[in-house]
Amino acid sequence: MVARVTLEIALGREFDYTIPEELLPRVEVGSRVRVPFGPRQAMGCVTALLDHSPHARLRPILQVVGAQPLITPKVLALARWVAEYYCCPAEIALKSVLPEAVRREEAGWRERLCVRMTPVSGPFPKLTRRQNDVWQVIEEWRELPLQELLRLTGTTAETVRRLEDKGLIAIAPRVAERDPYANETILPSSPLTLNPEQQRALGEILAALERPNPTPRPVPGEPARVFLLHGVTGSGKTEVYLQAIAHTLGQGRGAIVLVPEISLTPQTVERFKSRFCHGPLQTLVAVLHSHLSSGERHDEWHKIRQGRARIAIGARSAVFAPIEPLGLIIVDEEHEHSYKQEETPRYHARDVAVLRAQKEGAVVVLGSATPSLESYYNARQGKYRLLELPTRVDNQRLPIVRVVDLRHEVRRERGSPILSPLLREAILQRLERREQVILFLNRRGYANALQCPRCGHVVGCPNCSVALTYHRTNHRLCCHLCGHWENPPNACPQRECRSPAIRYAGIGTQRVEEALRRQFPQARIQRMDSDILQRKEDYRRILGDFRTGRIDLLIGTQMIAKGLHFPNVTLVGIVLADMSLHIPDFRAAERTFQLLTQVAGRAGRGDIEGEVIVQSFTPFHSAIQYARRHDFISFYEQEIEFRRELSYPPLARAALLTLRGRNEDKVRFTTDHLHGLLTEAFHDETDYILGKPAPAPLLRAEGFYRYQILLRTRQMLRTSRRLAAIHHRLNLPEGVTLAIDVDPVNLA
Ligand code: ADP
Ligand code: ZN
Ligand code: ZN
Repeated sequence: MVARVTLEIALGREFDYTIPEELLPRVEVGSRVRVPFGPRQAMGCVTALLDHSPHARLRPILQVVGAQPLITPKVLALARWVAEYYCCPAEIALKSVLPEAVRREEAGWRERLCVRMTPVSGPFPKLTRRQNDVWQVIEEWRELPLQELLRLTGTTAETVRRLEDKGLIAIAPRVAERDPYANETILPSSPLTLNPEQQRALGEILAALERPNPTPRPVPGEPARVFLLHGVTGSGKTEVYLQAIAHTLGQGRGAIVLVPEISLTPQTVERFKSRFCHGPLQTLVAVLHSHLSSGERHDEWHKIRQGRARIAIGARSAVFAPIEPLGLIIVDEEHEHSYKQEETPRYHARDVAVLRAQKEGAVVVLGSATPSLESYYNARQGKYRLLELPTRVDNQRLPIVRVVDLRHEVRRERGSPILSPLLREAILQRLERREQVILFLNRRGYANALQCPRCGHVVGCPNCSVALTYHRTNHRLCCHLCGHWENPPNACPQRECRSPAIRYAGIGTQRVEEALRRQFPQARIQRMDSDILQRKEDYRRILGDFRTGRIDLLIGTQMIAKGLHFPNVTLVGIVLADMSLHIPDFRAAERTFQLLTQVAGRAGRGDIEGEVIVQSFTPFHSAIQYARRHDFISFYEQEIEFRRELSYPPLARAALLTLRGRNEDKVRFTTDHLHGLLTEAFHDETDYILGKPAPAPLLRAEGFYRYQILLRTRQMLRTSRRLAAIHHRLNLPEGVTLAIDVDPVNLA
C-alpha cells in the first residue's frame, strides 16, 4: 500500500511513501503524517491511497499524528477545488482549511490532575479527621480537579495522596476542555411563533432540506438549493435560521453558520447557544474565530471533528468546519467583504459555501438586508431562490432618514461643520429625553490629512501613495496602510512654500469626539474604533456600558455598523457619507449603499421610532438617495445597468493580476510582458476581456509599486487553469511578485 502525501514545505508537488505494516490501520485519506524528506523530516497530509506507485525506491511513513485524520475526504475535495478555482497551490489551500492551532497541535489538549471517587471494596478504611473532611468534599463532587479540591479544603496534596493510598480515590490526568464562554450563563430559549412571511421562508427551506438526494448541480427548471433571504434588519432572519437549524439537527445532520468577524459578538453566539443548549436536540455549539486563544480554537475545532458539536459558528474559515453529515449552511450578511480572504488562498467564503453545499447535498441560506449585486443577480437569474422578509417583526417602521447637504452648511458657516444644526438639535433632543445616539464615521484618527492652504500640499506616506492621518492623542501622523508614523511638521514641507499655515483637513473619529465633548459637555461620550480597542474585553465592555445606559453617545467606525441591537438608540448620525463613495472601485456605490443601510438599521429597534441623519457633500448621489428611501430594488436596477454596460461583475467574473516590486520600471516592464503572454494564451477565446496594464489605484503601498491587469470572463474555472499554467511558466524577475486574485472584492 502506498500513500500519496502533500508536504507543507514543498509546493506544487505530491510525494509517494510506503505504509509500514504497523501503521496500516491508522493511515487514511486526510491523516497527518511525519515523513522523511531528503535528509530531514516533514509534516504532510495523505491525499490518496494507492496500490502501486509509478516511482521506485519509496521511503516509509515514519509516524501518524493524531488519533483521527484531521481532514475528511469531503473537506479535502473542497480544498482542491479552492486551489484550482482561486489559482493557488494545493498545499496552501489545505493549510487554510485547518486552524493553525489544530495544524500545529502545539496547544494540544490541556490536561490537569483530577480526583475521582473509586468504588470501595471491603470495609471502609479508617480516616483521620482531616482526611475525613477532605473525603466529605470529594463525596459531594464525585469528581473534581485536584487544584480545586485543595482550594476548597485548604489541605495539602499529601493528605489527598493518603486517601488514594487507602483506595478511596484515583488521581489521574484528565483532559479539561477550554470553553471560551465558560463564564457566561446561557438561558435556554424556545422557538418563537413565526409571522406569515417568516413561515413562508422557513417552509421553503424545510422543503429543500427534505428533498431526498438533491442533485449535485442545479438543473434548469428545478428549484434551486441555494436560498437568498432578503430581509430588512430586524425582520426576523435569525429566527428563521434557528428553526431551519433545528430541523436539520432533527434529520441527524449538522449546520454551519457563517457570520462576519465583526458581528461575531457574544450576543450573536448566545442566541444560537441558548436555543440548542437544552431540549431534545441538545448539542454543543462550537465557535471558531480569531479572538479565541489557540488552545480554545483547538478544542472547539476538535469538538466538531469528533461529532460532539453539530453546529459550527464562525467567520470566513468556518466554511471548512468538518461537520458531517452537513445539512445546512447559513451565510449571514452575505454581502460582507470580509468573507473574502485577502491573502492566498484568496477564497470567498460565501462562494465556497455554495459550492460545498452543492457537493455535499446541503442547503445554503444567504441572508442580508442589502444583498450583494452578485447574489441578487443570481436570484433574478433563477440560480438562487429569493425569499423576502420586507417588514420588521412587530411591523415597526423603518427609521426616517434625512439628508443634510453639507455644501449649504459650508457656505453658511464658512468652513466645514462637523455637526450640522439639524444633527446638533437632534442629538440635544435625545440627550434631554435620555435616549441614546450613535454617530458613525468611517475613518479613525483625528483629521484625515495635513494640508497646506497655500500650495495645497498634503503630507503623504513615504512608502504608500496615501495621505497620512493625524492622531491627536499621541500627536502623530500615521499611515493606516503600513503603520509608518512621523511628527507633524510646523510648516509646509514643500521647499518652495514653507507656509506655516499648514492645517488639518477632513475629519476622523477623534476629531468628532472632540467636537462632541465641546458641544455636549454634559453627555457621556465613548469612541469605538480600532485605536481604542486594544484587547477583546474592550469591545465587550464598551458595548456592555452602552447597553446598560452608561454611555449616551457612541461614536465609531464600521465596527459599530453591524448587527448590534440597542433598543434605546433612537438617532443615528452619519457624519460624512461621501467617504466611501470616492474610492476608485466599481463597487464604491454598492458599498456606500450597504453601509448607509446597515448603519441606519441601528436606529429605532425599540418601541420608539428611529431617525437617521446623513450628512453629505453629494446628497443626490443614487446610493444615498436610494438608501434614504430604503429602496434596495431600485438601487439594484440602476447599478446593474452600469455593471452591464462595462461588463463588470456580476455580469462577468473578474481576475485581478497584481505585480509588485520596489523598482517601478521593472514592475511596469514585467506587467507589459505578462500582458503579452495573456494576449497570446487567450487568443483562441472569445468570451473574455483583457484589460490594459495599469498602475493600481493605490500605486505605492508599503514601499512597493503595484501594477495591475484586470481580466474579465464568464468562464472562470477554465480561465483559472490557464492563469495557473501561465503563472507556473512565468519567469518573474528578481524582486517582482505576482498575485492572482480571482473574484476580487477590492480593486485598490
Ligand atoms: P434579523 O436577523 O433579520 O435582524 P432577528 O431575527 O434578529 O432579525 O429579529 C429581530 C428581533 O425580533 C429579535 O429580538 C427576535 O427575537 C424578534 N423576533 C424574530 N422573529 C419573531 C417572531 N416571529 N415573533 C416575535 N419576535 C420575533
Ligand atoms: Zn505649502
Ligand atoms: Zn504607508
